[in-house]
Amino acid sequence: MIVLMKRDATKRQMDRVINKIKEIGFQPHIDHGISTLIGIRGDTSSLDPNIFYMDGVEGVKRVSKPYKEVSKEFHPKKTVIKIGDVEIGGSYPVVIAGPCAVEDERQLLKTAEGVKEGGAHLLRGGAFKPRTSPYSFQGIGEEGLKILADARAKTRLPIVSEIMNQTQIDLFEKYDIDVLQIGARNMQNFDLLKAIGQLKRPVLLKRGPSSSVEEFLLSAEYLLSSGNRNVILCERGIKTFETAYRNVLDFNAVALIKELSHLPIIVDPSHGTGIQSMVVPLTYAAIAVGADGVMVEVHYKPQSAKCDANQQLNLIQFKEMMRSIIR
Ligand code: PEP
Ligand code: MN
Repeated sequence: MIVLMKRDATKRQMDRVINKIKEIGFQPHIDHGISTLIGIRGDTSSLDPNIFYMDGVEGVKRVSKPYKEVSKEFHPKKTVIKIGDVEIGGSYPVVIAGPCAVEDERQLLKTAEGVKEGGAHLLRGGAFKPRTSPYSFQGIGEEGLKILADARAKTRLPIVSEIMNQTQIDLFEKYDIDVLQIGARNMQNFDLLKAIGQLKRPVLLKRGPSSSVEEFLLSAEYLLSSGNRNVILCERGIKTFETAYRNVLDFNAVALIKELSHLPIIVDPSHGTGIQSMVVPLTYAAIAVGADGVMVEVHYKPQSAKCDANQQLNLIQFKEMMRSIIR
């Protein structure tokens, strides 16, 4: 539920509404725009809107969508997430680059230095890998997080890595991983969402390959309603009848989510296509559709990558791509 204050409402009038919300056991969320909106957090379905009609109140309305805190109705101002000097959702498209998996120190550092030179804003690399087959490379675990933290110290690039379950939170805190990635397969792992919702650490939430936009935004709602507002959404391709590429990047979703939500949304053309030669053109498409950035897989020697070798850019391709998107 949202209480819209009149443009000339006084601070006292606002405080009266805020106190009323608290008095009945709810939490207010205040958004100062041209006029002030006071959102009421939590399940407000049984609340009578009439109790908020006080002096200074223009109107009271229910949020029309099942997700509330994620919606623009509740929070019209765009969310900008600061990670060191980088702003996601700000005035330029952010580029997250790095290998699918951290394989060893040499591989990660060579790639990290290359993407830094090319102008990447953040460094990615999976230490824990969710693989379709139990026989595929599963990542090197804690050692991978340590290597990422060392690469951050050398390159000054903030680091992004996938967390697979809530028992790993302490480990991600220990290495101070700047952005916790929740993978596509875990988008509806509600216990994980609730646990990460307790933290303040930025989260990159990937869309499940068979999830609707509404399910995606409801997963983000788990994070926000648990207290973590630093959420970056990521469109990474969905499953369709088409088998010519790994997934189909749903640019419709990017344009629609920009209308529905205040959260930044980036695109992952690497998993979205699974094909190296398609990554650069679809990066351009992502930026053209208004995405707040991209996450691309880059490896200093893609042909020898232990996972997703077919979709990783080499450093020359990455640098060329960056030259055309950074002006
Ligand atoms: C990844 O980014 O490394 C990854 C596994 O992606 P997704 O969860 O989108 O498959
Ligand atoms: Mn990958």
